[in-house]
Amino acid sequence: MIVFVVFMILAVCVLYLASGKTNRKFETMIGHMGRKVSALFLAVALVLSSVMVSPSTVKAAGWLDYATQTISLGTAVSASIKEGDYYGSPEGGNSKYYWNIYKFTMPKKGLLNIYLESLSEEYLRYAHTYNGFLIFSASDPDNMLWCSRYRQNQIRKDYSTSRAMYYGSTEIALEAEDYYFAVRQCYTNDTPYYLTLSYKEPVMNVSSITLSPSSLAMEIGEQRTIIPTVLPNNATDKTVVWKSENPSIATVENGIVKAVSIGTTSISASSLDGEIKAACPVTVECNHNYKSSISPAGIGYNGYISKNCTKCGTETKDQIAAIDSIELSDTLYYYDGKEHTPSVTVLDNEGNALGQGKDYVISYPDNTQDIGTYTVTINFIGNYEGTKELDFSVLAVSVESVSLDMDDMTLEIGEQKKLTAAILPDNATNKSIMWESSDSSVITVDDSGLVKAIAVGTASVIATTVDGEKTAICTVDVICDHSYQISLIPATQNSNGVLTEECSKCGDSKRNEIIYAVSDISLSSTSCSYNGKMQTPSVTVKDTTGKKLQNNVDYTVSYTGNQKDVGIFTVTVNFEENYSGSISKQFTIYPKATNITKIKAKKKGFSVTWKKQSTQTTGYELAYSASRGFARNKTTIVTVSRNKVNKTISKLKKGKRYYVRIRTYKNVMVNGKITRLSSGWSTVKEVTTKK
Ligand SMILES: [Zn+2]
Ligand SMILES: [Zn+2]
Repeated sequence: MIVFVVFMILAVCVLYLASGKTNRKFETMIGHMGRKVSALFLAVALVLSSVMVSPSTVKAAGWLDYATQTISLGTAVSASIKEGDYYGSPEGGNSKYYWNIYKFTMPKKGLLNIYLESLSEEYLRYAHTYNGFLIFSASDPDNMLWCSRYRQNQIRKDYSTSRAMYYGSTEIALEAEDYYFAVRQCYTNDTPYYLTLSYKEPVMNVSSITLSPSSLAMEIGEQRTIIPTVLPNNATDKTVVWKSENPSIATVENGIVKAVSIGTTSISASSLDGEIKAACPVTVECNHNYKSSISPAGIGYNGYISKNCTKCGTETKDQIAAIDSIELSDTLYYYDGKEHTPSVTVLDNEGNALGQGKDYVISYPDNTQDIGTYTVTINFIGNYEGTKELDFSVLAVSVESVSLDMDDMTLEIGEQKKLTAAILPDNATNKSIMWESSDSSVITVDDSGLVKAIAVGTASVIATTVDGEKTAICTVDVICDHSYQISLIPATQNSNGVLTEECSKCGDSKRNEIIYAVSDISLSSTSCSYNGKMQTPSVTVKDTTGKKLQNNVDYTVSYTGNQKDVGIFTVTVNFEENYSGSISKQFTIYPKATNITKIKAKKKGFSVTWKKQSTQTTGYELAYSASRGFARNKTTIVTVSRNKVNKTISKLKKGKRYYVRIRTYKNVMVNGKITRLSSGWSTVKEVTTKK
């Protein structure tokens, strides 16, 4: 027995090492195990197998005659092994079992798929010694071709549970021939099972894989398909397993390569068993689609322009140099009436100038011509950010002196002349001048320096600068080419008059005489007695100073009516020349008086005779009185017509002295009224009445 085992080990080893083809069946048995592992495993397995089995002792030829059924490949068989079935031992030992023996035919070289399912857990549990089933070639029935042993075949579910195999399947490679298939009973008498034997084409391994294209250059996001050519054409399974060496660069699925990121990798296609492999190197590039973003530079800090590829994420960063200096071309100007806009120079910290309009914009304040301090604002734009304010100033130029084009001038009243002031320095900021006259009654001067002569005299024009109060003076003499005119306000009886002679231009007065008011007008006489002559009393007029006025110069006299007869007449003085108005005076011509020529006492009366005075006479008034003074209550007046020349008064007291007098009278119309004008009384005569 030991000799036999040793022999078997040596035989198997020799067999294995000698040729891959001769032990094809063993390869098939071990399925997909690797060659190295399977070699070792097979060696161990066959050692164990040899311990239990001695194929040379199997005399199948004898008991295969008990083959009871022919199985059609692919047809399921349901049966059980019972007492009464064939009973024997393949190795001819004492351990005998019941068997069911089938015959089947492989139509052509290929694989036999064996599916066996026991309905008893006992079945095959103890099949460790030999087998669950045996296969013999009909052409060589003395040598068992294949047996199931729980360590070799795949008909098991899980032997770690020690329940062995009670169903499962396996495949073995067979030639086109007739075979016997023996199923063994275990320790139970009735072992039910299902059995299906079926033909399967033999495995044709892949011998080569070529890929088209053999290499790929791709853009990110691109997809390309690799077509594998698997040989031989009749390979059992031409499935290839795709794999990317670096799926972060390119992925592959069913030959479709998808470029993911920049880099190089390799796509491989392997046969299912991994034995044959082809590779396609893949280079992934990116036709970058950059999207840039700016982090602007500012005053004192750098900025960046970042470019990010939207496809691959590649990022580049370019620095924008920080703004280093910002300066105005000028920060100080002297006033010149013009607007100032100093230019701006901006340098970055590498000494490069920034561009106005592109990198920054400047805003200037308005009205920078005026005195003051101004702020220029620089706003950074584009690749820059921030704002800078810089100041500049416009300073005033002070006035140092002022002069006039004339130091003195002579003007006629009403004449105008303009003075021009010169201010130094020429660019003085404030050239305003205040013009002033020292005596505005003599000259005036307006804001433009225009001097106007108002009145005779001397005055000065003073020009004072608003800035600094510098002064210049021009002396102006105002003269007059006089044009005298006389004016008169005549005197009246009530008020003085005045006579002036003044220059109409300057008001200079040559004459200014008071004409005194008329105060006294007198006639040479205001009355007279009728004498048959025209009466023209002379008039004397005096002013309030007593000065006599001149007839026919200062006044004329007019008389009214026939100033010869008895009556009241008006003398009118009409003022002329320096006087005005008129004044009337009255002049009275009384009747011519008469005288008593004779008085003669009579009894209780007297008779009176007078001189006849009938011209311009209405009659006579004869007065007599006991009183020497002609007291009124003691006096009697009797009227006698003008043609009488005597009168006898009677019925008086006897022996009484009377005083007698006479006068003439005339009734005249004065202002519509009869007025009696009387002459003067005659001398008084005394008479004493008789008894
Ligand atoms: Zn890119
Ligand atoms: Zn004048």
